[in-house]
Amino acid sequence: MFSRRQILLAGGGLGVAVLVAGVLPKLSTATAVISEAHADEAFEVTHSDSEWHSILSDEQYQILREEGTERAYTSALNNEHRTGTFACAGCDLALFSSSTKFDSRTGWPSFWAPLEHAVATRQDRSFGMSRDEVHCRRCGGHLGHVFDDGPKPTGLRYCMNGLAMTFQAVAA
Ligand SMILES: [Zn+2]
Repeated sequence: MFSRRQILLAGGGLGVAVLVAGVLPKLSTATAVISEAHADEAFEVTHSDSEWHSILSDEQYQILREEGTERAYTSALNNEHRTGTFACAGCDLALFSSSTKFDSRTGWPSFWAPLEHAVATRQDRSFGMSRDEVHCRRCGGHLGHVFDDGPKPTGLRYCMNGLAMTFQAVAA
């Protein structure tokens, strides 16, 4: 005979097993969705994969060409407060002015607006989230994401990878 406690434990275990079985397939499906390629966009600057490898460092390649993300608070550009321009590390196109940079306390260089005709966005449904991916208009290099919790005047927060950009200071 099973005691009442044993039956409860068995029932609880079964419940957990059913729960895990029900949840796991959903999770793996969601994380398996890789963001769509840039197939519908044509870029002015294009290179073969091996050319990109020679132009970029391994870390830059992972971010710009494979949509990776640098660890928070690792980029020197996070603490770059001089007047100047942030440009694409892949093709040198000017992307952001220091006048739109703000401290988002996220550990990634953040801006409330890009320069005109500098970036493009598209839906990114990777990792089970729906986000707006931001990439360079000229070479298609992945830069980061844009969120709608930024400061005035736009209310936008362009959350960028510092490794995807270079900084050119303007002499005061
Ligand atoms: Zn670029």
